[in-house]
Amino acid sequence: METVLDVVLPRSCLGCGREGKYICEQCDLFLSEAPTIFPKGDLEEVVSGWEYDGLIKDIISKIKYDGMFDAINELVEKALAIKEPFWPAGTVVTFVPLFKKRERERGFNQAKLIAKKLGGMTGKDVLPFLEKIKDTRSQTELDKVERLANVKGSFRKKEGAVCPNNVLLVDDVWTSGATMRECAKVLRRAGVKKVFGFTLARTI
Ligand SMILES: [Zn+2]
Repeated sequence: METVLDVVLPRSCLGCGREGKYICEQCDLFLSEAPTIFPKGDLEEVVSGWEYDGLIKDIISKIKYDGMFDAINELVEKALAIKEPFWPAGTVVTFVPLFKKRERERGFNQAKLIAKKLGGMTGKDVLPFLEKIKDTRSQTELDKVERLANVKGSFRKKEGAVCPNNVLLVDDVWTSGATMRECAKVLRRAGVKKVFGFTLARTI
């Protein structure tokens, strides 16, 4: 995803301003990796790059609200290099969808962009299996119980989608896990045997 901006403005570290990357080698030393988790229920392991904090939180917010899309490439490359996750052959990548109106307003779905980069790097297909059918409240200000209730029944399988045995579900951040669990439930009901998860960051 090279853009004209790459030519005009060189990237600089969001931590210290050094030119070259969004996260320089010095600032990288201070990032906290997130251990892989194995949630019970419909999700197998969930791989996340880092704790959702500090520099990583800043970058994800810049991706989402300032359209700094090219940072996705750097983060996905970095996450795959440190985690070296294994997903079975034939696993198809999908992503947490946004409500259509929201995606139109924002102009993009960051989870989809992350999924595309991940699919490109791992040689896996990326397909939309899910759609969001309720325009839910933002999860940010809700507690764990409210988050579960908020997303319940808000996703469904996309009409006509034929799901494979193994799916890798992608989102930007795992906080309570309510959204990804709900999506995994829908995928499992649609016949998927194993749902793996990937997010750039996770609340620890
Ligand atoms: Zn730096």
